Amino acid sequence: MPDQRNGKSCPVCCGNTMEEFLFLPGVPTHCNLLWESREQAQIAPRGDLRLGFCRACGHVYNLSFNPSLMEYTQAYENSLHFSPRFQAYAEALASRLISQYGIRGKDVIDLGCGKGDFLALLCNKGGNRGFGFDPSFVPEIMEKASAERMTIIQDFYSPRYAGYQADLVTCRHVLEHIQAPREFVKNVRASIGTNSSTVVFFEVPNVMYTLKDMGIWDLIYEHCSYFSASSLAVLFSACGFKVGEQSELYDGQFLGIDVAPGNPAGEPLPDVHDRVAAMNSDRAAFAENYRRKVEEWRKLFDEKKDGQKFVVWGGGSKGVMFLNTLRPGKGVEYMVDINPRKQGMFVAGTGQEIVHPEFLRRYRPETVIIMNPIYRDEIRGQLDGLGVKAEVLVA
Ligand SMILES: [Zn+2]
Repeated sequence: MPDQRNGKSCPVCCGNTMEEFLFLPGVPTHCNLLWESREQAQIAPRGDLRLGFCRACGHVYNLSFNPSLMEYTQAYENSLHFSPRFQAYAEALASRLISQYGIRGKDVIDLGCGKGDFLALLCNKGGNRGFGFDPSFVPEIMEKASAERMTIIQDFYSPRYAGYQADLVTCRHVLEHIQAPREFVKNVRASIGTNSSTVVFFEVPNVMYTLKDMGIWDLIYEHCSYFSASSLAVLFSACGFKVGEQSELYDGQFLGIDVAPGNPAGEPLPDVHDRVAAMNSDRAAFAENYRRKVEEWRKLFDEKKDGQKFVVWGGGSKGVMFLNTLRPGKGVEYMVDINPRKQGMFVAGTGQEIVHPEFLRRYRPETVIIMNPIYRDEIRGQLDGLGVKAEVLVA
């Protein structure tokens, strides 16, 4: 396998047209990992984000990604799963797949099934039998009702499991973590073999959402690949799948793709020229806006008066990337988070202490920086409740 870490070849189409457009040196390799002391946090493992854009297929990839820095076996907690809105979305998606493809009383495989939540939905809603693969799966937490229908293998899915056959194969939010996505998707295709009725569904974050909506704090080391609709289609065609429905999901934040097995040697590649051309101007604008936004924030921290206090509200990966990109030093000494498991811990890379909102009552910051504008009113209300008259800025 060619070493893609320092090379410029595209992991999706193998073209040599990867062009670097954004460089973020030394970001934490695990944004969501919290540390028990400031000293530990400040020496948390780091890696470089060197984003390349493929002019041939529209894929975005971290050219400096080093998989040996990732520890996949740790329990990976995606905070989205706690959100009722995300839950409702997952339920609707499971219902759609079951009814559209008649998946009732059948076998379902979920690759990278996490705690098995989505697989349980597919099994319970359609009376299906489920097989999940995930090295970070913790068996104790599975509900008994689900356990009867589901078998989870605590391992990565690989050709040794090709004996597991299914009518529906799903894989959500996994592909963006994988250094060699072609190999992974080819393995899935090989496992299906001649079982032509199998339906396959993959879901990944949508890079266009990040580029167009300036989600500049959404770029994280854990994701080596950032898929566009075109690079996703190219990947599956190249790996022997016929591309069916492609959809923007969850307000455009995710991309879904329904595929069916085709010629294992490769299906005709879709014409992506126009889509890639449109993306090219978006990513150029993104790089420019990124630099401008970072400069504006740096200026704000540089001009901070003595004794003036800023805090960041929100301990998710956006907040961690905001701090690690700007490295405001003493300019920001605390991060606020409502999750009690995060309080008392320290931010990877920059080492701010994470505090309960109540802390602000005596700390009295002049400025509260929030990561997501949709929480502005909610946070404003909490600040008013605490008697904190801080200015609220959106990162
Ligand atoms: Zn490419």
